[in-house]
Amino acid sequence: MSDRDGLIWLDGEMVDWREAKVHVLTHTLHYGMGVFEGVRAYETAQGAAIFRLQEHTQRLFNSAHILNMKLPYSKEEINEAHRAAVRENNLNSAYIRPMAFYGSEGMGLRAENLKVHVMVAAWEWPAYMGEEAKTKGIKIRTSSYTRHHVNITMCKAKANGNYMNSMLALREALDSGCEEALLLDNEGYVAEGSGENFFMMSNGVMYTPELTSCLDGITRRTIMEMARSMGIEVREKRITRDEVYIADEAFFTGTAAEVLPIQSLDGRVIGAGSRGPVTEKLQNMYFDTVTGKAPFKPEWLTLVK
Ligand code: PMP
Repeated sequence: MSDRDGLIWLDGEMVDWREAKVHVLTHTLHYGMGVFEGVRAYETAQGAAIFRLQEHTQRLFNSAHILNMKLPYSKEEINEAHRAAVRENNLNSAYIRPMAFYGSEGMGLRAENLKVHVMVAAWEWPAYMGEEAKTKGIKIRTSSYTRHHVNITMCKAKANGNYMNSMLALREALDSGCEEALLLDNEGYVAEGSGENFFMMSNGVMYTPELTSCLDGITRRTIMEMARSMGIEVREKRITRDEVYIADEAFFTGTAAEVLPIQSLDGRVIGAGSRGPVTEKLQNMYFDTVTGKAPFKPEWLTLVK
């Protein structure tokens, strides 16, 4: 990733991609205390447009506030950095990664007098699990790793260190022939995927876990609003793994994963074993919105130029 042409916004300047480096004593590299976002820009008839940029930037600031990290830029400056990262790399569509991290001024856990750095990079990143997965769905397994507890780490923060748990769960799932993990909370109820929120359809009602230990996903909010506009009842509740086994449809949502059908959990086929009709309708509405073809809410798109 580091060896390519392009520019990265780093601490207020566009820096050559290969020169956007940090010191090995970078504090966040050692302890994972940093915050980031995953944002996407899509190609629209008016050019590249970033989906729900303001909401992503707000979550970045919320994450920083939760970790008590003071970001040295305004939300407007960060939004502009996103637009610049896409524009100046001549991208029509992009995955955008902003991150705030501590510098290398000290190593103590007190984290005093550390500079907060901010970077925003953008690159092309097609469908997270390939195009086929969008229709066929993916096989997932219940993870042996428990999702974060609300008083162990901060679940509302999209914090770097939180992703060690995600990576362990995803690796375990991949090594056992699945494509993604379903993590349960510390009481055994469904929390989320390694980087996605979870939804299921059961008897015409859509269910998703409450926001206790899962991330307040922006795609989750989008899909809930879209489903309600279609007259679908959406309920947030505790979900057990066996409820998922007997659901009519299930899918994941996330900026990277978009709307991804789930074919099976722990070898139990869910519904018809491929993308269900509600999943398909929501997926179409989602893609029509993000690409500006038939936007559900035009104000969710921020043009890059
Ligand atoms: N949960 C986790 C753990 C994630 O990393 C993500 C991706 N940011 C999501 C859920 C989905 O969030 P969003 O829809 O905002 O991308």
